[in-house]
Parts: sequence; structure tokens; C-alpha cells
Amino acid sequence: MTCPICDDTTETFIDERSNITYYHCNTCEYIFKSPECHQSIAEQKSRYDLHENHEDHPGYKAYFERFLDFVLPLAGAPETALDFGCGRSSLLAKLLAERGIDCDYYDPLYYPENLDDSKKYELVVSTEVFEHLHDPKAVFEELVKRMESKGYLAIQTQFHPNDIEAFKKWYYHQDPTHIVFFRSQTFRVLSEKYGCEFVEDNGKNMVVIRKR
Ligand SMILES: [Zn+2]
Repeated sequence: MTCPICDDTTETFIDERSNITYYHCNTCEYIFKSPECHQSIAEQKSRYDLHENHEDHPGYKAYFERFLDFVLPLAGAPETALDFGCGRSSLLAKLLAERGIDCDYYDPLYYPENLDDSKKYELVVSTEVFEHLHDPKAVFEELVKRMESKGYLAIQTQFHPNDIEAFKKWYYHQDPTHIVFFRSQTFRVLSEKYGCEFVEDNGKNMVVIRKR
């Protein structure tokens, strides 16, 4: 199958435990599950509805603080932000507001009316969203359109090990709602394609990108 990110050819492998077929691109290091594993929005929502609301949990707040501690020193001094795919919680938006950044939040399941197409943002953040996307290239392009020129995009998603045997043992793809997997190389390729420059990654799960 052709890589939907960079159009190069992919290698196929099967995870014997789940019998799921995966495609791995050696050029942009994107891995994706066979399309029959892609779930509808309704299936995804029924699973998310089971999750507890962690908003008051100190660990949940610390998790977002770690993200902001990495992102904000790299992102200039933004005054406006959008949290794209916030889930049920507006906690990240609140934490940004505490830092003087006016943050809108949107989620296709929980806050579907919250996107204002007339607005552009100096910072767009998206945490634990990209691994759920059927078409991450299209969403990346859409987020870039919602950014001001010279604005920043910060994404959190676990980077896969880029080794098939290690990948099979990796926990992250075993969640049925996680269907596509990235490394910083994948975001470098996307940045190049959509008029952005890659700023930095943390080697693990976070990238910061700047619009030209
Ligand atoms: Zn590729």
C-alpha cells in the first residue's frame, strides 16, 4: 500500500497477537493499521465515555504541565491558542489561560460547535489526538490553516520504536482507538509539505512546528 503521508511504498507486517495488518513507511516512518480497523466516531465515543473524568486528578494536571513546560519555551510568547481535540476536558485550555494565553477548545465528539473558521491562532495544541485520526495529513493541513503566519503547532502522541519486533511488543497500538503511529520524522515530512519548519521534538512524544 502507498504511504498516505509521503506517497512512498510501505512494508506490510502482521501482529500475530491481534492478527491486525500494519503498514510501515521507511521514508517518513509512519505506521498505520489496515483500514478495516478504523472505527467510526460513534464507536470511538462509546469507548471514551467509559473513561473517567480525570480533571480533578493531580496526575492529569501534571501531565499537561509537562507538555506546556516543553512547548511554551519554544513557542515564542503566544497570546491566542486553540486546543484541538480536547476530549471532554477543557483543563489544558484553563492551564493556558493561567499563563495569560487566551485558549479556545474544540473536540469533534464533545464540543463540535466550538470551531470558529474566522479565527487564526498563534499556537495550536493537540494532545493524544493524532493516533486516532483516519486522515492525519488532512488534519495537519487544516491545523496549519488555523494558525497565524509564524504561529506554532505542538502535538503530543507517543513515538513508535520504528522496529517491527519492538513495535509488536509496544503497548500503544493495542488500544483499538489508536490506529496510526508517528515519529518525529513523520512530522518533519508533514512540516515540509505544508509550509512549516520543524522546531524540536523531545525524542519521545512531543513535537513543536512553526508555520513559515
Ligand atoms: Zn511515508
